[in-house]
Amino acid sequence: MTGILDEQERTLAFAEIALGQIRSLRQMAIPRNYEIWYVYATGYNSALNKVINETLARNGRLSEADLDQIHDTYLSQVRTTDRIDKVGARVIGEIDDVMALITDALGMTVSFGDTLRDASQDLSQAKDRAQVKSVIASLVKSTREAQDANKALEERLTISKSEVSNLQKSLEAIRAESLTDPLTALGNRKYFDRALVLAIEAALAQGEPLSLLMLDIDHFKSFNDNYGHLTGDQVLRLVGMSLKQTIKGQDITARYGGEEFAVVRPATPLRQALTVADHIRRAVMSKELKKKSTGEILGRVTISIGVSVLQAGDDMDSLIGRADACLYAAKRNGRNRVICEVDPEYSAEIQIQVA
Ligand code: GH3
Ligand code: MG
Ligand code: MG
Repeated sequence: MTGILDEQERTLAFAEIALGQIRSLRQMAIPRNYEIWYVYATGYNSALNKVINETLARNGRLSEADLDQIHDTYLSQVRTTDRIDKVGARVIGEIDDVMALITDALGMTVSFGDTLRDASQDLSQAKDRAQVKSVIASLVKSTREAQDANKALEERLTISKSEVSNLQKSLEAIRAESLTDPLTALGNRKYFDRALVLAIEAALAQGEPLSLLMLDIDHFKSFNDNYGHLTGDQVLRLVGMSLKQTIKGQDITARYGGEEFAVVRPATPLRQALTVADHIRRAVMSKELKKKSTGEILGRVTISIGVSVLQAGDDMDSLIGRADACLYAAKRNGRNRVICEVDPEYSAEIQIQVA
C-alpha cells in the first residue's frame, strides 16, 4: 500500500512540474504539451530533455512548430512505417525536383548549342564591322544567360544535396529507433532476432564458438506490486545499465521481452560465457536500490541466467530453447544463479519438460 501511495505522489509531482512549465512558458494546456512536459519531468527520455534544453537555451521559448516537432519525433505513436512513408514521399519529391532541373538544364544546353551554331554561320556571312559586333553582342548575351542559369542550377543542386543528406539522417534515425528498446536503450527483440541469425551464420562459417545468455529478473512481479510500475521501470533501466557496463566489444545485448534480457557472445566458449554471466549476476545484486525522491532503501533485485552454446545443426530456435530451459532450471533451483547445458539441473529440467 505504501508503494502505491508513493507512486501516486511521484506521478502527481511530475504532473505539477509539467503544469508549472506550461504556465511559466505561457503555453496552451493541451494534451500534447502536457505529455511533452510530463515526460520531461520524469527524465526518462534523455533525447527529449536534451532537445528541449538546447532549444530553450537558444531561443528562450518553444514555438508551436518546435512543440509539434518534439512530439512527432520523441512521443508520437505514429508507427515507424508511417514515418518511413513520409520520408519516402519527401525523397520522391526531391528526386522529381532534381529531374525537372536536369531536364531544364539539358534543354538549355541544346538551345545554347543552336545559338552558337547560328552565330558561327552569321559570323562567316558578316559583311562589315557592325554585323560582326551585333553577332558578338548576342553571343555575349546568351553566354551570360547560360552562365546565370548554370549558377541557379548549381545553387538548387546544393540545396538538394543537403536536403537529401537530411533525409538520409532521418531514415537512419528511424531505422535505429525501430531496433531500440526505448526504456533501456538496448537493442529490442527485432534487433536481437536479426543479430542472432547473423551471428550464428558467422560462427558456423568460421567454426568459432558462440554463447547465448538469457537473463530474467527474479520475482519482478512482486517488486512491481510492492513499489509500483514506474519504480519497476527504473529497475529495468538499472539492469540494462549493468549489462552495458559488463558487456563490451562485439557482443549483442538486447531486451528480449518484459523483464527478460539476452546477450550473444561471439567467439566465446562455455567457460568464458559462464564467467561473464556470473559477473552480470553479481553486478545486478550488488546494487542497492534507493528511491531517488525519498531516499527509501528498496533492497536488491537478483537475476537468473541460462547459458547455451552453439552446436552443429543448431538454429536460432534450438539455441534459444536450450538457454531458456537452463533459465527455467535456474529458477526452479532457487533463482539468483547461472545454469548451463552441462549442469545436472539442466538435464533434470529437460526430463521434467519431456515428462
Ligand atoms: P520469476 O522469478 O519466476 O521470473 O518471477 P517474476 O515475478 O519475475 O515473473 P513473472 O513472469 O510472473 O512476472 C514478470 C513481471 O514483469 C510481470 C510484469 O508486471 C513485469 N513487467 C514486464 N514488463 C515490464 C515493464 O516494462 N515494466 C515494468 N515495470 N514491469 C514489467
Ligand atoms: Mg519472465
Ligand atoms: Mg522474472
